[in-house]
Parts: sequence; structure tokens; C-alpha cells
Amino acid sequence: MKTLYLVAMGDVPKQVMEWIEHAAAEWLPVAIRRLEARVIPERAYDPKRKQYQSVEMMKMLAEMLPPDSCRLLGVTDVDLAIPMLSFLFGQAQVDGPVALISVCRLRQEFYGLRADEDVLRSRVVKEVLHELGHTFGLVHCDDPKCAMSLATHIQRVDEKDEQYCAQCGLQLLKRFSSQEAEVS
Ligand SMILES: [Zn+2]
Ligand SMILES: [Zn+2]
Repeated sequence: MKTLYLVAMGDVPKQVMEWIEHAAAEWLPVAIRRLEARVIPERAYDPKRKQYQSVEMMKMLAEMLPPDSCRLLGVTDVDLAIPMLSFLFGQAQVDGPVALISVCRLRQEFYGLRADEDVLRSRVVKEVLHELGHTFGLVHCDDPKCAMSLATHIQRVDEKDEQYCAQCGLQLLKRFSSQEAEVS
């Protein structure tokens, strides 16, 4: 069985990594392993925007892809952006091996509210399902409750359930059974 690797980019609370591991294990029939945390290189920082360039971080992830990996998910606590968007909750290669999520804007503190662990855990799970879903070929879903629906605002993340809708779930399942057929 191929392996989904998780890697913290910079400081990420241990508990966040545990939530992610748990959520991924619940939905994906893959082995899950963690790589040692990496330091974010300075070249990824954009001092004008005071944010980190997601594209640069995705490149780093692609370079560290272990040979036995099926997917590599990077997790960071810094604020991510790309030139065309003011921020990103995460980024993924559709049908590709690499994805990245940021915890930064999933925290209540980011919005001037008191820290809330339950809210944070729930948002992290939804974001992980969303970006990993993309790497397994899922595209954005019209169902606002589905983890694959597009969220450009934190309220939209909160409207989602911590799961895929029936259709997206089925597509994911088909994907895994066809992959197994390819190897056997
Ligand atoms: Zn998306
Ligand atoms: Zn869906």
C-alpha cells in the first residue's frame, strides 16, 4: 500500500497533526506517516504582503516527495497567498501528489475572537478533506455542506460538514478501487 505523508512546515502544534492524521485515516485507505518538520525557507516569505508564497511552499513539497508516497500533505501555521488571491486556506494539485493547508486563518484568534479548540479542529478536518480530495481528482462541489465545496471565507468553511457528500464520497471510493485494480 502506498503512503500518505504529512509534514509540518514550520511550527505546527502536535495536536493539529494528530487531528489531520485521524481525519485522513477515516476517509482514505492508505498508510499514513509523518515526516520530520521542515523549516520554511526565507525565500517563501513576501515582506510586502507579510505572507508566505504558497507556490514556493508547494515547490518545496514536490522536491521532498518520498519515493513510496501516494500523496504528501504539507501543514503550516503561516498565512499563505498567491499573486492573484489575498489569501489561501490551502492549495492542491488536482490529481497530483502534493497539497498544502494553513491553520493560520482557521483559528478564531485570527478574527479577533477567543481561541476555540473544537472550532479549530473542525475547520482543520474540512480543509484537509478538501485539499486531499483535490489530489485524488475531486473538483469543487455545488453542495455547500460538502467538504469539496469552495470556501473563500471562513463562514463558508463553517457551513460545511466534516465529510464529503454522497456523490464526492462515491467518486473517491471509485478512485481507490480503480487504483487497486491498476496495481493488481
Ligand atoms: Zn478547492
Ligand atoms: Zn460533494
